[in-house]
Amino acid sequence: MRMIDTHLLLFKTIFAQSPISTQIFTPDGETILVNKAWEKLWNIRFPELKSYNILNDQQLVETSVMTAIKKGFKGKIVDVPAIQYFPEKTVSVKNAVSDRWVAAKIFPIKNAKGKITHIVLQHTDVSQEKKVEQDKNDFIGIATHELKTPVTSLKAYAEVLEKKFAKNGDMFSSKQLGKMNAQLDKLTMLISDLLDATKIESGKLRMHQEKFDFDAFVVEIVEEMQRTTFRHTLHIEGKTKQKVQADRERTGQVLTNLISNAIKYSPHTEKIIIKQSIDSENVRLCVQDFGIGIPENNKERLFERFYRISGPKENTFPGLGLGLYISNEIMKRQKGLLWVESELGKGSTFCFTLPINAKIKNPQNNVLEEEIQHD
Ligand code: ADP
Repeated sequence: MRMIDTHLLLFKTIFAQSPISTQIFTPDGETILVNKAWEKLWNIRFPELKSYNILNDQQLVETSVMTAIKKGFKGKIVDVPAIQYFPEKTVSVKNAVSDRWVAAKIFPIKNAKGKITHIVLQHTDVSQEKKVEQDKNDFIGIATHELKTPVTSLKAYAEVLEKKFAKNGDMFSSKQLGKMNAQLDKLTMLISDLLDATKIESGKLRMHQEKFDFDAFVVEIVEEMQRTTFRHTLHIEGKTKQKVQADRERTGQVLTNLISNAIKYSPHTEKIIIKQSIDSENVRLCVQDFGIGIPENNKERLFERFYRISGPKENTFPGLGLGLYISNEIMKRQKGLLWVESELGKGSTFCFTLPINAKIKNPQNNVLEEEIQHD
């Protein structure tokens, strides 16, 4: 057997027997070869595929992965994010497997002159991971929903009793109930963070656009937050003199979160600065504290869900690691940006920019929210 035939046979065997689902395309997007693992993954025989052309696959456009795939066809090695793919929507096949979540990697093959001759696409089935993730989200969603009702009732009873004891002159009991109320507020915040995170994960966090005076909004939140701390003094610097179109309540949630983190993570310093400014398109707001700061290598991951810095110092602060994740998602949906600058031991500055006229994108239907004028 010639060397070239041996190599071909070797390649054919490895390709056919590989447990990784592999599909080979022409540079025009026509499939020319699939292996057994591919046929098994989708429960489709290769001849059934007929005239499938990946570059015309509308499902890949709708799931926002076509741009990545096209990069692969232009010669780049690309990782295509996981999507749930339904083969029967694109090709007419019987009994195709339809509940698979797959991620893919694309390797273009080039000849000696650098011309692309083939495109290799390999799938990774991540359905199991997605299911575990989904079950976890469902559980968190149900558990938090169930917790919310009794906590709301407890809070109402505690408030009534606090007032009643105060009226009867029993200040000790009234004070104790006041403390209980404060703890219930913390519990309510935790529950509502968990509910928001579940909404984000399931694409149900809806945003509402309205026009509001940015400076008055900042003053309102800062005054509210000042009432939660005796140690710290919150200073507002600058003015924007600007009305913005955005989700007032959700943006308030972001600012509240940044200030409450600034308070929480600077237990030994007093000053917190809230600085506002404006350019032609955005208002910009920064919350600066002089507290524990953030190690350089943790900055990137702070905005991930449930991410908390672990260290002897950080572990002493309570929290779920959801506030920055939720804040970042809220800002992204308003086409804003959220970032941090920090020096360990010296303090942190969290800033966001918000477009003056944010066109809010709601995730479920990708429809731009109607602009509501509230002049
Ligand atoms: P939580 O505060 O509930 O843990 P966040 O998502 O708000 O969750 O913050 C994530 C992590 O980022 C925190 O656990 C903390 O380690 C770090 N962090 C956030 N804000 C600050 C800050 N102002 N100073 C120092 N570390 C901070």
